Amino acid sequence: MKASLFLFLFALEIFSQQFHQLEISNEGKEITVVAFSKNGLTYMPVESFSDALQFKHKTNAASQRLEITFPEYVLIVRPRNSFVILRSKKEKTEKVLQFPVSTISLKNTIYLPLEYAQGILEKCIGGKITYKRVEEEAVKGEPKKIEEKEISAPELSAVSVSVSEKANGTLVKILSSKKVSKVTHTISGDIIKITFPDVSLDEKKLDKTFQTGLVKTVKAINTENGSNLSLSLRKNYSAYEFIEEVPGKEFLVTIHNKKFAAISGLKKEKWNFDVIVLDAGHGGKDYGAIGINNTVEKEINLAIALKVGKLINENLTDVKVVYTRKDDHFVELYKRGKIANENNGKLFISIHCNAAPKKKRDPNGFEVYLLRPGRTEEAIGIAERENKVIEYEDDPTRYQKLTDENFILVSMAHSASMKYSEKFADMVHRQFKQNLALTPRGVKQAGFYVLVGASMPSVLIETGYVSNPQDASFIKSEKGQLQLARSIVSAIKSFKSYYDKVIDSE
Ligand SMILES: [Zn+2]
Repeated sequence: MKASLFLFLFALEIFSQQFHQLEISNEGKEITVVAFSKNGLTYMPVESFSDALQFKHKTNAASQRLEITFPEYVLIVRPRNSFVILRSKKEKTEKVLQFPVSTISLKNTIYLPLEYAQGILEKCIGGKITYKRVEEEAVKGEPKKIEEKEISAPELSAVSVSVSEKANGTLVKILSSKKVSKVTHTISGDIIKITFPDVSLDEKKLDKTFQTGLVKTVKAINTENGSNLSLSLRKNYSAYEFIEEVPGKEFLVTIHNKKFAAISGLKKEKWNFDVIVLDAGHGGKDYGAIGINNTVEKEINLAIALKVGKLINENLTDVKVVYTRKDDHFVELYKRGKIANENNGKLFISIHCNAAPKKKRDPNGFEVYLLRPGRTEEAIGIAERENKVIEYEDDPTRYQKLTDENFILVSMAHSASMKYSEKFADMVHRQFKQNLALTPRGVKQAGFYVLVGASMPSVLIETGYVSNPQDASFIKSEKGQLQLARSIVSAIKSFKSYYDKVIDSE
């Protein structure tokens, strides 16, 4: 009852606040559909779009997939799915493409993220489309009466816990239907204690015993000012991590087994700091972000990477530089990590420029990113933009969507190098802040595909905004690029001495 009420409220919120009319024009033809916006993206109903332009479509009831027939293509979309299939009638081929976000399904209608789908739709209908939101005619949802008593009833079952076994250990997923703040965790002996202030747990429902796996029991205890969830562990665990996947609502505890620790442990002989991998983002047919005054991200990224490499060669003679690209050609995201691994890289630095859509705010400054679940909409949006390049690749399906469980497996694989990544990210941020006339925006985290494949400490640097006039002219200039490169190399020097010291003491 509680869950369905919650979902209902959520749906109502989307319906009443974010739906709007969207005008789409295609080579002189104008149509209007009711779309909605979420996280800065425009979601367009595929069926209304096809109807308005008079293309046939049918829905397969069993698989829920929607097929739209265009003159030369058939487009297949699914609800709540990031993949679309584009079938060419002439060439008799099928292409599977992945959007950085999933389609949304509401009231049996599938909505496509238009910012990402535009290119595919243009291909299908054989012409350019443009679209604009009609602000003043925002559609209002019908107000619904909700019994106040039901909402304020005590939410004992607000928190649920699931435990599952993975190759690397045990994953505990804690979901709360209500946002809870200031959740803390500690370990004492073999018991992980997670404290939820101001939340009452359903003790009976949550208490569980497991015969296998690293978690022996889950126990919930309500206290005076909140509640505790205790996970009692079996002896063969090696480490645990607590991740707030969705702030206040979704928490993940990964408990690693000893086998995992043995595989991922840093071994001294293997870890001399001798190879740095420089990854100039984008390249070739992938231009990256296009900024003002024809500022092209791929060119800036490469120019900075080459300058960093040159400075390393001059200043750190015992360190070899490996580039994922040294000129303007296309390199798939997964290949960049592969190059880094094959060359035994000890540090992976991916260099990018940021961009924000026009008309909105005009942000500026630099950010340093770690591979971790995105904590803010903005960080998630930036990772989505950088990940979007997989649409240009032959097989975008090779990338697993970085959500929930997949991310945890990725985090587990990176946990050994994470403390080094954090350290280096801090060092880069500090150097930039000290030396550059760019605004510091902090060390952040999000799911960048390019960092997933690299099995070593790694960061992604958003040097500045190509969409901001001051940033763009700085990162485009020879002088600015040299300052950026010098700061990165200073950070590398600090990192090298930290790294050598830690490895020596282990
Ligand atoms: Zn980029």
